[in-house]
Amino acid sequence: MDVDVIIVGAGPTGLMLAAELRLAGVRPLVLERQPKRRDTPKAGGLGGQILELLRYRGLLERFDAACTEPVPAPRFPFGGVHLDFTQLADPPLHALPLPQQLLERLLDERAGELDVDIRRGHEVTRVSQDDAAVSVEVRGPDGPYRITARYLVGCDGARSRVRDWAGIGFPGTTYPEVNRLAQVSLPETVTVLGNGDLDVPGSGTIRAGFTRTGHGLFGVGSAPGSQVVSLYTIEDESTEYDDDVPMTVAELQDSVRRVLGMDLPVGEALRLSRFTFKARQAERYRQGRILLAGDAAHLFPATGVALNAGMLDAVNLAWKLAADLHGRAPAGLLDTYHDERHLAGARTMLHTRAQVALRRGHDAAAEALREVFQELLADEQPLRRMGALVAGSDIRYPMPGSDRHVLIGAFAPDLTLHTEQGLTSVAELVHAARPVLLDLAEREDLHEVARAWEDRIDYRTAKTGDRPADALLIRPDAHIVWAAATDEPADSAAPALREALSGWFGSP
Ligand SMILES: Cc1cc2nc3c(=O)[nH]c(=O)nc-3n(C[C@H](O)[C@H](O)[C@H](O)COP(=O)(O)OP(=O)(O)OC[C@H]3O[C@@H](n4cnc5c(N)ncnc54)[C@H](O)[C@@H]3O)c2cc1C
Repeated sequence: MDVDVIIVGAGPTGLMLAAELRLAGVRPLVLERQPKRRDTPKAGGLGGQILELLRYRGLLERFDAACTEPVPAPRFPFGGVHLDFTQLADPPLHALPLPQQLLERLLDERAGELDVDIRRGHEVTRVSQDDAAVSVEVRGPDGPYRITARYLVGCDGARSRVRDWAGIGFPGTTYPEVNRLAQVSLPETVTVLGNGDLDVPGSGTIRAGFTRTGHGLFGVGSAPGSQVVSLYTIEDESTEYDDDVPMTVAELQDSVRRVLGMDLPVGEALRLSRFTFKARQAERYRQGRILLAGDAAHLFPATGVALNAGMLDAVNLAWKLAADLHGRAPAGLLDTYHDERHLAGARTMLHTRAQVALRRGHDAAAEALREVFQELLADEQPLRRMGALVAGSDIRYPMPGSDRHVLIGAFAPDLTLHTEQGLTSVAELVHAARPVLLDLAEREDLHEVARAWEDRIDYRTAKTGDRPADALLIRPDAHIVWAAATDEPADSAAPALREALSGWFGSP
Protein backbone atom coordinates (compact mmCIF):
# COMPACT_ATOMS: atom_id res chain seq x y z
CA MET A 1 0.00 0.00 0.00
CA ASP A 2 1.47 3.39 -1.00
CA VAL A 3 -0.50 5.63 1.38
CA ASP A 4 -3.24 5.33 4.00
CA VAL A 5 -5.65 7.94 2.65
CA ILE A 6 -5.88 9.80 -0.65
CA ILE A 7 -7.92 12.99 -0.63
CA VAL A 8 -9.05 14.08 -4.09
CA GLY A 9 -9.35 17.87 -4.17
CA ALA A 10 -7.69 20.67 -2.21
CA GLY A 11 -10.78 22.84 -1.77
CA PRO A 12 -11.94 23.85 1.73
CA THR A 13 -13.27 20.34 2.47
CA GLY A 14 -10.17 18.48 1.35
CA LEU A 15 -7.80 20.85 3.16
CA MET A 16 -9.82 20.70 6.38
CA LEU A 17 -9.92 16.91 6.20
CA ALA A 18 -6.17 16.71 5.62
CA ALA A 19 -5.44 18.85 8.69
CA GLU A 20 -7.83 16.88 10.90
CA LEU A 21 -6.32 13.59 9.74
CA ARG A 22 -2.86 14.87 10.65
CA LEU A 23 -4.12 15.78 14.12
CA ALA A 24 -5.37 12.20 14.39
CA GLY A 25 -1.96 10.84 13.46
CA VAL A 26 -2.64 9.90 9.82
CA ARG A 27 -0.57 11.07 6.85
CA PRO A 28 -2.93 11.71 3.91
CA LEU A 29 -1.93 12.48 0.33
CA VAL A 30 -3.92 15.31 -1.27
CA LEU A 31 -4.18 15.25 -5.08
CA GLU A 32 -5.40 18.49 -6.69
CA ARG A 33 -5.73 18.90 -10.43
CA GLN A 34 -5.16 22.69 -10.46
CA PRO A 35 -1.45 23.62 -10.52
CA LYS A 36 -1.97 26.45 -8.02
CA ARG A 37 -4.59 27.74 -5.58
CA ARG A 38 -7.54 29.05 -7.57
CA ASP A 39 -8.49 32.71 -7.64
CA THR A 40 -12.07 32.36 -8.96
CA PRO A 41 -14.21 34.26 -6.44
CA LYS A 42 -16.69 32.00 -4.71
CA ALA A 43 -17.99 32.36 -1.16
CA GLY A 44 -17.77 35.83 0.36
CA GLY A 45 -17.79 34.54 3.94
CA LEU A 46 -17.78 31.63 6.34
CA GLY A 47 -20.53 31.09 8.88
CA GLY A 48 -22.34 28.63 11.10
CA GLN A 49 -21.20 25.93 13.49
CA ILE A 50 -17.82 25.52 11.77
CA LEU A 51 -16.76 28.79 13.43
CA GLU A 52 -17.36 27.16 16.82
CA LEU A 53 -15.36 24.14 15.76
CA LEU A 54 -12.49 26.37 14.59
CA ARG A 55 -12.62 28.09 17.96
CA TYR A 56 -12.51 24.68 19.66
CA ARG A 57 -9.35 23.97 17.64
CA GLY A 58 -7.79 27.28 18.71
CA LEU A 59 -7.90 28.59 15.13
CA LEU A 60 -10.71 31.11 15.14
CA GLU A 61 -8.53 34.09 16.09
CA ARG A 62 -6.36 33.46 13.07
CA PHE A 63 -9.40 33.33 10.75
CA ASP A 64 -10.82 36.40 12.44
CA ALA A 65 -7.61 38.35 12.01
CA ALA A 66 -7.43 37.51 8.30
CA CYS A 67 -10.77 39.22 7.56
CA THR A 68 -10.15 42.37 5.59
CA GLU A 69 -13.54 43.88 6.41
CA PRO A 70 -15.25 44.41 9.78
CA VAL A 71 -17.66 41.67 10.82
CA PRO A 72 -21.11 42.91 9.71
CA ALA A 73 -24.19 43.02 11.94
CA PRO A 74 -25.73 39.55 12.39
CA ARG A 75 -28.42 39.77 9.73
CA PHE A 76 -28.77 36.94 7.21
CA PRO A 77 -30.92 36.47 4.11
CA PHE A 78 -33.30 33.52 4.32
CA GLY A 79 -35.15 33.08 1.03
CA GLY A 80 -36.98 36.33 0.47
CA VAL A 81 -36.86 37.38 4.15
CA HIS A 82 -34.19 38.10 6.76
CA LEU A 83 -33.05 36.54 10.01
CA ASP A 84 -32.25 39.64 12.01
CA PHE A 85 -30.29 38.89 15.17
CA THR A 86 -29.17 42.46 15.80
CA GLN A 87 -31.42 42.73 18.87
CA LEU A 88 -30.06 39.56 20.50
CA ALA A 89 -27.09 39.77 22.87
CA ASP A 90 -25.90 36.26 21.89
CA PRO A 91 -26.94 35.56 18.27
CA PRO A 92 -27.26 31.86 17.40
CA LEU A 93 -25.65 32.39 13.98
CA HIS A 94 -22.37 34.14 13.16
CA ALA A 95 -20.40 34.68 9.97
CA LEU A 96 -16.97 36.04 9.13
CA PRO A 97 -16.45 38.17 6.01
CA LEU A 98 -13.69 35.85 4.85
CA PRO A 99 -13.61 35.46 1.04
CA GLN A 100 -13.08 31.87 -0.05
CA GLN A 101 -9.65 32.55 -1.61
CA LEU A 102 -8.48 33.80 1.79
CA LEU A 103 -10.11 30.86 3.58
CA GLU A 104 -8.34 28.42 1.27
CA ARG A 105 -5.04 30.22 1.84
CA LEU A 106 -5.45 29.88 5.62
CA LEU A 107 -6.41 26.21 5.36
CA ASP A 108 -3.48 25.63 3.03
CA GLU A 109 -1.10 27.29 5.51
CA ARG A 110 -2.50 25.18 8.33
CA ALA A 111 -2.04 22.03 6.24
CA GLY A 112 1.55 23.15 5.57
CA GLU A 113 2.23 23.59 9.30
CA LEU A 114 0.97 20.04 9.86
CA ASP A 115 3.23 18.81 7.06
CA VAL A 116 0.46 17.58 4.74
CA ASP A 117 1.62 16.28 1.36
CA ILE A 118 -0.38 18.27 -1.24
CA ARG A 119 0.38 17.55 -4.90
CA ARG A 120 -1.00 20.31 -7.10
CA GLY A 121 -1.28 19.76 -10.84
CA HIS A 122 -2.08 16.07 -10.23
CA GLU A 123 -5.44 15.08 -11.67
CA VAL A 124 -7.10 11.85 -10.65
CA THR A 125 -8.28 10.20 -13.87
CA ARG A 126 -9.62 6.90 -12.60
CA VAL A 127 -10.48 5.25 -9.30
CA SER A 128 -11.29 1.62 -8.62
CA GLN A 129 -11.47 -0.44 -5.44
CA ASP A 130 -11.53 -3.96 -4.10
CA ASP A 131 -11.90 -5.33 -0.58
CA ALA A 132 -8.33 -4.45 0.37
CA ALA A 133 -7.45 -1.18 -1.37
CA VAL A 134 -8.35 1.74 -3.59
CA SER A 135 -6.34 2.11 -6.77
CA VAL A 136 -5.94 5.52 -8.36
CA GLU A 137 -4.65 6.64 -11.75
CA VAL A 138 -3.17 10.11 -11.76
CA ARG A 139 -2.03 12.49 -14.51
CA GLY A 140 0.82 14.52 -13.01
CA PRO A 141 3.26 17.08 -14.44
CA ASP A 142 5.77 14.26 -15.14
CA GLY A 143 3.22 11.95 -16.73
CA PRO A 144 0.71 9.37 -15.55
CA TYR A 145 1.24 7.16 -12.51
CA ARG A 146 -0.69 4.78 -10.28
CA ILE A 147 -1.02 4.81 -6.54
CA THR A 148 -2.86 2.67 -4.01
CA ALA A 149 -4.39 3.61 -0.67
CA ARG A 150 -6.46 2.02 2.05
CA TYR A 151 -9.15 4.71 1.71
CA LEU A 152 -9.97 7.52 -0.69
CA VAL A 153 -12.12 10.55 0.06
CA GLY A 154 -13.70 12.43 -2.82
CA CYS A 155 -13.58 16.12 -1.88
CA ASP A 156 -13.68 16.89 -5.59
CA GLY A 157 -16.62 19.27 -5.63
CA ALA A 158 -20.01 19.52 -7.28
CA ARG A 159 -19.07 17.64 -10.44
CA SER A 160 -17.36 14.87 -8.48
CA ARG A 161 -16.03 12.11 -10.69
CA VAL A 162 -15.12 10.11 -7.60
CA ARG A 163 -18.85 9.93 -6.88
CA ASP A 164 -19.44 8.49 -10.36
CA TRP A 165 -16.54 6.02 -10.13
CA ALA A 166 -17.91 4.80 -6.80
CA GLY A 167 -21.34 4.35 -8.41
CA ILE A 168 -23.05 6.64 -5.92
CA GLY A 169 -26.25 8.30 -7.13
CA PHE A 170 -26.78 12.06 -6.74
CA PRO A 171 -30.53 12.54 -6.93
CA GLY A 172 -32.30 15.87 -6.59
CA THR A 173 -33.25 19.00 -8.46
CA THR A 174 -31.39 21.51 -10.60
CA TYR A 175 -33.08 24.89 -10.49
CA PRO A 176 -33.07 27.02 -13.64
CA GLU A 177 -32.20 30.20 -11.67
CA VAL A 178 -28.79 31.72 -12.53
CA ASN A 179 -27.49 34.57 -10.33
CA ARG A 180 -24.72 36.88 -11.52
CA LEU A 181 -22.98 39.35 -9.24
CA ALA A 182 -20.45 41.91 -10.37
CA GLN A 183 -18.58 44.94 -9.22
CA VAL A 184 -17.41 46.94 -12.23
CA SER A 185 -16.23 50.40 -13.17
CA LEU A 186 -18.30 52.17 -15.77
CA PRO A 187 -16.75 54.10 -18.69
CA GLU A 188 -17.00 57.94 -18.68
CA THR A 189 -19.77 57.71 -21.30
CA VAL A 190 -22.15 56.30 -18.67
CA THR A 191 -23.23 58.87 -16.07
CA VAL A 192 -24.13 57.82 -12.53
CA LEU A 193 -26.80 60.38 -11.57
CA GLY A 194 -27.17 61.81 -8.06
CA ASN A 195 -30.00 59.39 -7.23
CA GLY A 196 -27.94 56.38 -8.38
CA ASP A 197 -29.73 55.97 -11.73
CA LEU A 198 -27.49 55.24 -14.72
CA ASP A 199 -27.72 57.40 -17.85
CA VAL A 200 -26.57 55.27 -20.79
CA PRO A 201 -26.22 57.32 -24.03
CA GLY A 202 -28.16 55.80 -26.88
CA SER A 203 -29.99 53.36 -24.61
CA GLY A 204 -31.73 55.40 -21.92
CA THR A 205 -31.89 55.39 -18.13
CA ILE A 206 -31.47 52.40 -15.81
CA ARG A 207 -33.16 52.89 -12.45
CA ALA A 208 -31.14 52.42 -9.25
CA GLY A 209 -32.19 49.43 -7.11
CA PHE A 210 -34.03 46.43 -8.46
CA THR A 211 -35.93 46.22 -11.75
CA ARG A 212 -38.03 43.16 -12.51
CA THR A 213 -38.75 42.45 -16.18
CA GLY A 214 -40.43 39.58 -18.00
CA HIS A 215 -36.94 38.02 -18.37
CA GLY A 216 -35.64 38.24 -14.81
CA LEU A 217 -34.36 40.63 -12.17
CA PHE A 218 -31.72 43.33 -12.56
CA GLY A 219 -30.15 45.30 -9.72
CA VAL A 220 -27.66 48.16 -9.57
CA GLY A 221 -26.17 50.04 -6.62
CA SER A 222 -23.37 52.59 -6.30
CA ALA A 223 -21.68 54.82 -3.74
CA PRO A 224 -22.33 58.57 -4.27
CA GLY A 225 -19.91 60.10 -6.77
CA SER A 226 -18.37 56.75 -7.76
CA GLN A 227 -18.14 55.21 -11.23
CA VAL A 228 -17.84 51.78 -9.56
CA VAL A 229 -21.18 49.97 -9.37
CA SER A 230 -22.49 46.65 -8.13
CA LEU A 231 -24.62 44.80 -10.64
CA TYR A 232 -26.86 41.81 -10.11
CA THR A 233 -28.95 39.73 -12.48
CA ILE A 234 -31.19 36.71 -11.95
CA GLU A 235 -32.57 34.76 -14.88
CA ASP A 236 -33.93 31.31 -15.51
CA GLU A 237 -31.70 29.45 -17.97
CA SER A 238 -31.33 25.91 -19.22
CA THR A 239 -27.49 26.04 -19.48
CA GLU A 240 -25.64 24.06 -16.76
CA TYR A 241 -22.62 26.09 -15.63
CA ASP A 242 -19.40 24.83 -14.08
CA ASP A 243 -18.67 27.03 -11.03
CA ASP A 244 -14.95 26.60 -11.64
CA VAL A 245 -15.22 28.28 -15.07
CA PRO A 246 -15.00 31.99 -14.27
CA MET A 247 -17.67 34.37 -15.43
CA THR A 248 -16.59 36.96 -18.00
CA VAL A 249 -17.59 40.59 -18.61
CA ALA A 250 -19.17 39.50 -21.92
CA GLU A 251 -21.30 36.93 -20.05
CA LEU A 252 -22.45 39.66 -17.66
CA GLN A 253 -23.28 42.04 -20.49
CA ASP A 254 -25.22 39.34 -22.35
CA SER A 255 -27.24 38.70 -19.20
CA VAL A 256 -27.98 42.42 -18.71
CA ARG A 257 -29.07 42.60 -22.35
CA ARG A 258 -31.42 39.65 -21.96
CA VAL A 259 -32.96 40.92 -18.71
CA LEU A 260 -33.18 44.66 -19.44
CA GLY A 261 -33.24 44.57 -23.23
CA MET A 262 -30.42 47.15 -23.44
CA ASP A 263 -26.62 47.33 -23.70
CA LEU A 264 -24.60 48.47 -20.70
CA PRO A 265 -20.98 49.45 -21.47
CA VAL A 266 -18.63 48.14 -18.78
CA GLY A 267 -15.02 49.09 -17.96
CA GLU A 268 -12.85 47.09 -15.57
CA ALA A 269 -14.34 44.19 -13.62
CA LEU A 270 -13.34 44.16 -9.93
CA ARG A 271 -15.39 41.09 -9.07
CA LEU A 272 -17.43 38.72 -11.17
CA SER A 273 -19.26 35.68 -9.86
CA ARG A 274 -22.06 33.45 -10.93
CA PHE A 275 -23.98 30.98 -8.84
CA THR A 276 -26.64 28.47 -9.65
CA PHE A 277 -28.74 26.35 -7.37
CA LYS A 278 -29.08 22.62 -7.07
CA ALA A 279 -30.71 20.54 -4.35
CA ARG A 280 -28.82 17.26 -4.56
CA GLN A 281 -27.52 14.83 -2.00
CA ALA A 282 -25.44 11.71 -2.53
CA GLU A 283 -27.42 8.57 -1.77
CA ARG A 284 -24.53 7.24 0.28
CA TYR A 285 -21.48 9.03 1.67
CA ARG A 286 -19.54 5.76 1.70
CA GLN A 287 -19.14 2.97 -0.81
CA GLY A 288 -16.61 0.46 0.46
CA ARG A 289 -13.25 2.22 0.74
CA ILE A 290 -14.43 5.39 -1.01
CA LEU A 291 -16.07 8.23 0.91
CA LEU A 292 -17.51 11.58 -0.14
CA ALA A 293 -17.46 14.94 1.63
CA GLY A 294 -18.34 18.56 0.87
CA ASP A 295 -19.91 19.60 -2.42
CA ALA A 296 -19.24 16.11 -3.78
CA ALA A 297 -21.78 14.87 -1.24
CA HIS A 298 -24.33 17.68 -1.25
CA LEU A 299 -25.43 20.81 -3.08
CA PHE A 300 -27.91 23.15 -1.45
CA PRO A 301 -30.26 25.60 -3.14
CA ALA A 302 -29.35 28.64 -0.99
CA THR A 303 -26.11 30.45 -0.25
CA GLY A 304 -24.12 30.69 2.95
CA VAL A 305 -24.28 27.08 4.17
CA ALA A 306 -22.19 24.87 1.88
CA LEU A 307 -18.76 25.57 3.39
CA ASN A 308 -20.14 24.99 6.87
CA ALA A 309 -21.62 21.64 5.86
CA GLY A 310 -18.55 20.47 3.94
CA MET A 311 -15.95 21.40 6.52
CA LEU A 312 -18.05 19.81 9.28
CA ASP A 313 -18.22 16.61 7.17
CA ALA A 314 -14.42 16.63 7.19
CA VAL A 315 -14.22 17.04 10.97
CA ASN A 316 -16.73 14.23 11.54
CA LEU A 317 -14.92 11.85 9.17
CA ALA A 318 -11.27 12.39 10.05
CA TRP A 319 -11.07 10.83 13.52
CA LYS A 320 -13.23 7.87 12.48
CA LEU A 321 -11.03 7.15 9.48
CA ALA A 322 -7.95 7.50 11.69
CA ALA A 323 -9.36 5.06 14.26
CA ASP A 324 -9.97 2.55 11.48
CA LEU A 325 -6.44 2.99 10.11
CA HIS A 326 -4.92 2.63 13.59
CA GLY A 327 -6.85 -0.64 13.96
CA ARG A 328 -8.87 0.71 16.88
CA ALA A 329 -12.25 1.38 15.29
CA PRO A 330 -15.12 -0.58 16.77
CA ALA A 331 -17.42 -2.30 14.28
CA GLY A 332 -19.57 0.16 12.36
CA LEU A 333 -17.74 3.33 13.44
CA LEU A 334 -16.91 4.42 9.89
CA ASP A 335 -20.52 3.92 8.84
CA THR A 336 -21.64 6.44 11.44
CA TYR A 337 -20.04 9.06 9.15
CA HIS A 338 -22.79 8.50 6.60
CA ASP A 339 -25.49 8.17 9.25
CA GLU A 340 -24.60 11.42 10.99
CA ARG A 341 -23.53 13.67 8.13
CA HIS A 342 -26.23 12.51 5.71
CA LEU A 343 -28.73 13.43 8.41
CA ALA A 344 -27.08 16.84 8.90
CA GLY A 345 -27.06 17.36 5.11
CA ALA A 346 -30.74 16.46 4.90
CA ARG A 347 -31.50 19.09 7.54
CA THR A 348 -29.59 21.73 5.62
CA MET A 349 -31.48 20.60 2.51
CA LEU A 350 -34.76 21.06 4.38
CA HIS A 351 -34.23 24.72 5.21
CA THR A 352 -32.53 25.62 1.91
CA ARG A 353 -35.44 24.09 -0.02
CA ALA A 354 -37.80 26.12 2.16
CA GLN A 355 -35.77 29.18 1.12
CA VAL A 356 -36.44 28.35 -2.55
CA ALA A 357 -40.18 28.40 -1.87
CA LEU A 358 -39.85 31.68 0.02
CA ARG A 359 -37.85 33.50 -2.64
CA ARG A 360 -39.19 32.24 -5.96
CA GLY A 361 -42.81 33.33 -5.99
CA HIS A 362 -43.73 36.82 -7.21
CA ASP A 363 -47.48 36.87 -6.84
CA ALA A 364 -49.66 38.06 -3.96
CA ALA A 365 -49.70 34.59 -2.37
CA ALA A 366 -45.90 34.45 -2.30
CA GLU A 367 -45.74 37.96 -0.83
CA ALA A 368 -48.19 36.84 1.87
CA LEU A 369 -46.03 33.80 2.69
CA ARG A 370 -42.97 36.02 3.12
CA GLU A 371 -44.91 38.48 5.26
CA VAL A 372 -46.25 35.78 7.60
CA PHE A 373 -42.81 34.20 7.87
CA GLN A 374 -41.16 37.54 8.65
CA GLU A 375 -43.83 38.21 11.27
CA LEU A 376 -43.00 34.90 13.01
CA LEU A 377 -39.34 35.87 13.03
CA ALA A 378 -40.09 38.96 15.09
CA ASP A 379 -40.39 36.65 18.13
CA GLU A 380 -37.18 35.56 19.83
CA GLN A 381 -37.90 31.86 20.19
CA PRO A 382 -38.62 31.07 16.50
CA LEU A 383 -35.80 33.42 15.48
CA ARG A 384 -33.32 31.53 17.68
CA ARG A 385 -34.60 28.23 16.38
CA MET A 386 -34.13 29.29 12.76
CA GLY A 387 -30.65 30.60 13.57
CA ALA A 388 -29.62 27.27 15.08
CA LEU A 389 -31.11 25.42 12.12
CA VAL A 390 -29.13 27.49 9.61
CA ALA A 391 -25.94 27.30 11.71
CA GLY A 392 -26.31 23.51 11.98
CA SER A 393 -25.83 23.79 15.73
CA ASP A 394 -29.17 22.12 16.55
CA ILE A 395 -27.94 18.75 15.28
CA ARG A 396 -28.13 15.93 17.81
CA TYR A 397 -26.75 12.83 16.19
CA PRO A 398 -28.83 9.77 17.03
CA MET A 399 -26.71 7.53 19.30
CA PRO A 400 -27.14 4.66 21.69
CA GLY A 401 -28.35 6.02 25.03
CA SER A 402 -29.38 9.41 23.66
CA ASP A 403 -32.64 9.12 25.59
CA ARG A 404 -30.64 8.99 28.85
CA HIS A 405 -29.22 12.50 28.72
CA VAL A 406 -30.14 15.55 26.68
CA LEU A 407 -26.48 16.27 25.80
CA ILE A 408 -25.77 12.88 24.23
CA GLY A 409 -25.31 13.45 20.48
CA ALA A 410 -25.07 17.23 20.86
CA PHE A 411 -22.09 19.55 20.33
CA ALA A 412 -20.38 20.00 23.70
CA PRO A 413 -21.27 23.32 25.34
CA ASP A 414 -18.27 25.50 26.08
CA LEU A 415 -18.36 25.25 29.89
CA THR A 416 -15.95 27.35 31.92
CA LEU A 417 -13.81 24.91 33.90
CA HIS A 418 -11.95 25.41 37.16
CA THR A 419 -8.99 23.08 37.47
CA GLU A 420 -5.98 22.82 39.77
CA GLN A 421 -3.95 24.44 36.98
CA GLY A 422 -6.38 27.37 36.72
CA LEU A 423 -9.27 28.39 34.52
CA THR A 424 -9.89 26.60 31.22
CA SER A 425 -12.84 25.63 29.01
CA VAL A 426 -14.25 22.73 27.03
CA ALA A 427 -13.06 24.48 23.85
CA GLU A 428 -9.46 24.34 25.06
CA LEU A 429 -9.75 20.67 25.99
CA VAL A 430 -10.45 19.67 22.37
CA HIS A 431 -7.72 21.79 20.71
CA ALA A 432 -5.69 18.67 20.04
CA ALA A 433 -8.68 16.77 18.59
CA ARG A 434 -8.34 13.90 21.08
CA PRO A 435 -11.32 12.32 22.86
CA VAL A 436 -11.82 13.65 26.40
CA LEU A 437 -13.54 12.22 29.45
CA LEU A 438 -14.43 15.31 31.44
CA ASP A 439 -15.10 14.47 35.09
CA LEU A 440 -17.02 17.33 36.70
CA ALA A 441 -17.70 15.61 40.05
CA GLU A 442 -14.44 13.85 41.01
CA ARG A 443 -15.94 10.47 40.16
CA GLU A 444 -13.18 8.01 41.06
CA ASP A 445 -15.42 5.15 39.85
CA LEU A 446 -15.41 6.66 36.34
CA HIS A 447 -11.70 7.47 36.44
CA GLU A 448 -11.06 3.83 37.29
CA VAL A 449 -12.99 2.69 34.19
CA ALA A 450 -11.22 5.22 31.94
CA ARG A 451 -7.72 4.05 32.94
CA ALA A 452 -7.91 1.16 30.49
CA TRP A 453 -8.33 3.64 27.60
CA GLU A 454 -5.70 6.17 28.71
CA ASP A 455 -3.64 5.60 25.53
CA ARG A 456 -6.41 7.18 23.47
CA ILE A 457 -8.67 9.19 25.83
CA ASP A 458 -7.63 12.25 27.82
CA TYR A 459 -9.10 12.15 31.33
CA ARG A 460 -9.65 15.63 32.84
CA THR A 461 -11.19 16.67 36.15
CA ALA A 462 -12.67 20.12 36.66
CA LYS A 463 -15.40 21.98 38.45
CA THR A 464 -18.00 24.07 36.70
CA GLY A 465 -20.83 26.21 37.97
CA ASP A 466 -24.26 24.65 37.43
CA ARG A 467 -22.83 21.38 36.11
CA PRO A 468 -25.01 19.74 33.43
CA ALA A 469 -23.72 16.24 34.24
CA ASP A 470 -21.24 14.44 36.48
CA ALA A 471 -19.11 13.49 33.49
CA LEU A 472 -19.08 13.96 29.73
CA LEU A 473 -17.36 11.80 27.13
CA ILE A 474 -16.48 14.09 24.22
CA ARG A 475 -15.37 12.95 20.74
CA PRO A 476 -12.65 14.75 18.77
CA ASP A 477 -15.37 16.52 16.73
CA ALA A 478 -16.69 17.93 20.05
CA HIS A 479 -19.89 15.87 20.06
CA ILE A 480 -20.85 14.21 23.33
CA VAL A 481 -21.30 10.44 23.15
CA TRP A 482 -22.03 9.68 26.78
CA ALA A 483 -22.94 11.58 29.93
CA ALA A 484 -23.35 10.56 33.58
CA ALA A 485 -26.38 12.28 35.06
CA THR A 486 -25.66 14.29 38.22
CA ASP A 487 -25.22 11.90 41.15
CA GLU A 488 -25.81 8.86 38.90
CA PRO A 489 -24.84 5.82 41.03
CA ALA A 490 -21.62 4.00 40.18
CA ASP A 491 -23.39 0.71 39.48
CA SER A 492 -25.15 2.21 36.46
CA ALA A 493 -22.65 4.93 35.41
CA ALA A 494 -19.50 2.79 35.35
CA PRO A 495 -20.82 -0.03 33.10
CA ALA A 496 -22.47 2.54 30.81
CA LEU A 497 -19.17 4.42 30.47
CA ARG A 498 -17.33 1.16 29.72
CA GLU A 499 -19.87 0.39 26.99
CA ALA A 500 -19.61 3.90 25.50
CA LEU A 501 -15.79 3.79 25.52
CA SER A 502 -15.72 0.43 23.74
CA GLY A 503 -18.55 1.40 21.39
CA TRP A 504 -16.84 4.59 20.22
CA PHE A 505 -13.13 4.10 20.80
CA GLY A 506 -12.61 0.35 20.58
CA SER A 507 -11.52 -2.33 23.00
CA PRO A 508 -8.94 -1.23 25.55
C1 LIG B 1 -20.27 32.28 -6.68
C2 LIG B 1 -20.32 31.35 -5.53
C3 LIG B 1 -20.62 31.84 -4.28
C4 LIG B 1 -20.65 31.00 -3.18
N1 LIG B 1 -20.96 31.52 -1.97
C5 LIG B 1 -20.94 30.73 -0.88
C6 LIG B 1 -21.18 31.28 0.41
O1 LIG B 1 -21.42 32.48 0.58
N2 LIG B 1 -21.11 30.44 1.48
C7 LIG B 1 -20.84 29.11 1.34
O2 LIG B 1 -20.79 28.40 2.34
N3 LIG B 1 -20.60 28.57 0.13
C8 LIG B 1 -20.65 29.34 -0.98
N4 LIG B 1 -20.39 28.80 -2.20
C9 LIG B 1 -20.16 27.36 -2.29
C10 LIG B 1 -18.69 27.02 -1.94
O3 LIG B 1 -17.85 27.72 -2.80
C11 LIG B 1 -18.49 25.51 -2.08
O4 LIG B 1 -19.43 24.88 -1.23
C12 LIG B 1 -17.10 25.04 -1.70
O5 LIG B 1 -16.13 25.48 -2.59
C13 LIG B 1 -17.08 23.52 -1.66
O6 LIG B 1 -15.84 23.10 -1.21
P1 LIG B 1 -15.30 21.64 -1.58
O7 LIG B 1 -13.91 21.60 -1.03
O8 LIG B 1 -16.27 20.62 -1.15
O9 LIG B 1 -15.27 21.61 -3.17
P2 LIG B 1 -14.50 22.57 -4.17
O10 LIG B 1 -14.24 23.88 -3.56
O11 LIG B 1 -15.28 22.54 -5.45
O12 LIG B 1 -13.10 21.86 -4.37
C14 LIG B 1 -12.97 20.69 -5.14
C15 LIG B 1 -11.52 20.61 -5.58
O13 LIG B 1 -11.33 19.34 -6.21
C16 LIG B 1 -10.50 19.52 -7.32
N5 LIG B 1 -10.75 18.38 -8.23
C17 LIG B 1 -11.90 18.09 -8.88
N6 LIG B 1 -11.75 16.96 -9.60
C18 LIG B 1 -10.48 16.53 -9.40
C19 LIG B 1 -9.73 15.42 -9.89
N7 LIG B 1 -10.28 14.52 -10.71
N8 LIG B 1 -8.45 15.28 -9.48
C20 LIG B 1 -7.88 16.18 -8.62
N9 LIG B 1 -8.54 17.26 -8.16
C21 LIG B 1 -9.83 17.43 -8.53
C22 LIG B 1 -10.93 20.85 -7.89
O14 LIG B 1 -9.94 21.41 -8.73
C23 LIG B 1 -11.15 21.66 -6.61
O15 LIG B 1 -9.98 22.33 -6.21
C24 LIG B 1 -20.38 29.62 -3.34
C25 LIG B 1 -20.07 29.10 -4.60
C26 LIG B 1 -20.04 29.96 -5.68
C27 LIG B 1 -19.70 29.38 -7.04
